[in-house]
Amino acid sequence: ELAVVSSPWTLGSLRLSNRVLMGSMHTGLEVLDDGGAAMAAFYRERAAGGAACIVTGGIAVSDEARGGPDFAVFGAGGADERFRVAVAAVHDEGGTILAQLFHAGRYALVQGVLDRHGRQQRAVAPSALPWAAARGVVPEELTAAEVERTVEDFAAAARSARAIGFDGVEIMASEGYLINQFQSPLTNLRDDAWGGTPEKRRRFAVEVVRAVRAAVPDLAVTIRLSGADLMPGSTTDAEVDALVHDLLPLGLDGISVGIGWHESRTPTVQAAVPHGAWLAYAERIARVVRASAFPDVRVIASNRMTDLRDGEAVLADGLLDAVALARPFLADPALVDRSLAGRFDLVNTCIGCNQACLDRSIVGAPVSCLVNPRAGRELAFPSRPTDGPKRVDVVGGGPAGLAAAVDAARRGHRVTVWEADDRLGGQFDLAALVPGKEDYAATVRAARAELEERGAVVRTGHPADVADLLGSDAVVVAVGVVPRTLDVPGADLPHVVSYEHALRHGVPAGTVALVGGGGIGVDTAAFLVESPDEVVRAREFGEWWDVAVSDEVLGDVPQREPAAERVLRPGSDVTVLRRSGKFGQGVGITSRWVAVGRLRDAGVRMVGGVQEYLRIEPGRLWIRDEDGQERAVPADHVVVCAGQEPSPAAAATAADGLVPRLRAAGVPFAVVGGARDARGVDAVRATSEALEAVRRL
Ligand code: SF4
Repeated sequence: ELAVVSSPWTLGSLRLSNRVLMGSMHTGLEVLDDGGAAMAAFYRERAAGGAACIVTGGIAVSDEARGGPDFAVFGAGGADERFRVAVAAVHDEGGTILAQLFHAGRYALVQGVLDRHGRQQRAVAPSALPWAAARGVVPEELTAAEVERTVEDFAAAARSARAIGFDGVEIMASEGYLINQFQSPLTNLRDDAWGGTPEKRRRFAVEVVRAVRAAVPDLAVTIRLSGADLMPGSTTDAEVDALVHDLLPLGLDGISVGIGWHESRTPTVQAAVPHGAWLAYAERIARVVRASAFPDVRVIASNRMTDLRDGEAVLADGLLDAVALARPFLADPALVDRSLAGRFDLVNTCIGCNQACLDRSIVGAPVSCLVNPRAGRELAFPSRPTDGPKRVDVVGGGPAGLAAAVDAARRGHRVTVWEADDRLGGQFDLAALVPGKEDYAATVRAARAELEERGAVVRTGHPADVADLLGSDAVVVAVGVVPRTLDVPGADLPHVVSYEHALRHGVPAGTVALVGGGGIGVDTAAFLVESPDEVVRAREFGEWWDVAVSDEVLGDVPQREPAAERVLRPGSDVTVLRRSGKFGQGVGITSRWVAVGRLRDAGVRMVGGVQEYLRIEPGRLWIRDEDGQERAVPADHVVVCAGQEPSPAAAATAADGLVPRLRAAGVPFAVVGGARDARGVDAVRATSEALEAVRRL
C-alpha cells in the first residue's frame, strides 16, 4: 500500500531503505551521565522500528551554542563518547544517523549556566535583541571575528560528528535559531558584511554550509531550512527561495523544510493545527530546487504528519523525496515497520498533545510521551519479555489502564482488561469528541488492536467485581475519574448537564454557561463553537492565520472514528466562567495559548474571578462576580466543567468499593492515575504511573 514510502533512495552517500526519517527532537538524554546508554536504547528502538535515518536532537557546536543546560556540546563533557555509543546502537540495527549541528543564538536559556571555565555562559546573536521568553537574557552581538569563528565551530562540529561515526549532519537553520536569526531582518540589524541587505543576511548560512561541506566531503550534509518564519516582517518567501538558490551549488545533499519560529504567534505543532498544514511550504521549496541546476537535491517535508498513508499521498507525485516525522516516533518507535506491514491498526498515533514532549523539553525536563510512557525510558523499562508470566488484571480501559495492559501484554503476561462502560477509552473517548483532538481515538484503537494481537482479553460492559479478580497475580486499578457535580440551588434542573453529557449528546441551541474554565471547560467550549469537520477547520485555520494550508492529506483519515452526533451552533453564545487561575489551566504551556486564543477569536466570553456560583434558574446562572456584585449570566444551558473526582470504585473507604474488597481478599493491587488522585490529574502522570505499576508486579 505504501509503494513510494517503502521505496529505497539515496541521500548523498547514504542508501536508505525507505522514505521516512525520524526528525530531530531534543530529549535531554544527551547529557545523562550514563555513558550514552539511555540515548542508545532510545535511538536503537527507533532504528529497529524502521526509521531509515535518524536525526539527533540538536548538538551544540560550542558552549555558547547551547539552548540550555541540558544540551550536549561537541567535544565537551564526554558528549562525543556518549554519541559514539548511540551511533553504534543505530548501526547495529541497520539504521543511519545524522548529527544535528545546533546553535541556539538568542534562544539560549543560560541563566546560571556555566561555561567550561566556570564562568556565566554568554548568549550570542547577530544583534543584541532578546526574544520574548528570554527570561532576562540579552544576547551579546557577535563581533565579525566571532561570526567567522562560529562558522568554523560548525565545521569543527561536523568533523567531530564524522570522528564519532555519524553518517552525516543536518545543519539547523530553522525554527528561529542562530542561522535563521542571521537571515531575518527582525533579528539581524547589522550593517557589516553579515547584515544590512538580504544578500548579506544570507551570507552566514552560505558560509556555514560551505564550511561544513568542505569539512566532511564524504558525509551526507543536509540543512533544516525555515519554509516560513511565521513572524510579521521577517524573511519573505522570495528571500527563502533566494537562500535555496545560494545554497544549492554548495554541495548540499538535502533540504528538510521546517516551519515557524518558537516565538511565532501562529501555532505550528499543536493538536489544533490541521494535519499536513505545512506541506505547501515544502512543496514550494521543492519546486525551486527542481527548477534549478541542482534538481536532484533531496527535499524532505515535516510537521503535523502522523500517518504514513498521508506520507504516501504527499510523496506520490514525486515532487518531495521523503518525510521527516518526529513526535510520532516518540509515540510509536515501530511506526514505520508497522505501517509498511499494513498494520495501521497497531500504530500508536501521536495525538499532538505536547504534554510529555515539548512542554517538558521547554523547561529542561526529560522528554517522554503521553501515549507511550516508555519513551525516553527504554533503558529503565526494557522491552524484553518476562521470564515469569503472570495473570494481570487491569480494571479500567482508559488511557492509564490501556497503557498498563499493553505493556503487560507485550512482556508476555496474561492480561484481562475490565471496563464497566461498553467502550474502551475513558477520558480519551471523550476527548476525541473535541475538535482537533480526534486523534485521541487512535490511542484507543491502537491499544485495542495490540491487546487483541497479543491474546489479551478485553471485557467491556463488565465492571470487575472482586470475585472476578480472585486468583489474579496483580490487579491494576485504573478506574479513572467522574465529573464533579455542582452544589448550588438549581443544579438539579434539567438544563444543567455535565461536560461528559455535553460532549456525548451535544447542547441544544441557546445561550450556554460553562462552569469551570480549566482544560475541560476550554475543550467543551471548543466543542460548542468549532466545526467538527477537519476540512472546514483547516480552511478556517489557513484564513485566520493567513497561511497556505495544504489540503493534500485532509479527509484521508481512515483511522479516526466519527464524532458523536451533536447539536452545534456556529456563533453560539457561550460564556466560560472561572473562579481563580488561568483559563485553560492544566493545558500544557505550548498548547494553552492556542486553545484559549481560538475561543476568544470565536467570540466566547471569558469571565474570571467568579467569587461564588449562587443559583441556577431557567435561562440564567447567578454568580457573585469579582467585584462582589450579584450578576446573572445568560444560560439556557449550564455545562458543569468543575473538575473531576476519583471514580467511586476506587474509594478506599467505601465498604463496597473495589479497593477495600481487594485488600480484604488479599489480592495484590495498585491504584493508578485519576483513580488514585484526581486533583490536577493529567494523563501524562496517569499513563506513567500505570507503566511503573505494571513493572513493579
Ligand atoms: Fe505526541 Fe503527545 Fe506523545 Fe508528544 S506526548 S509525542 S505530542 S502523543
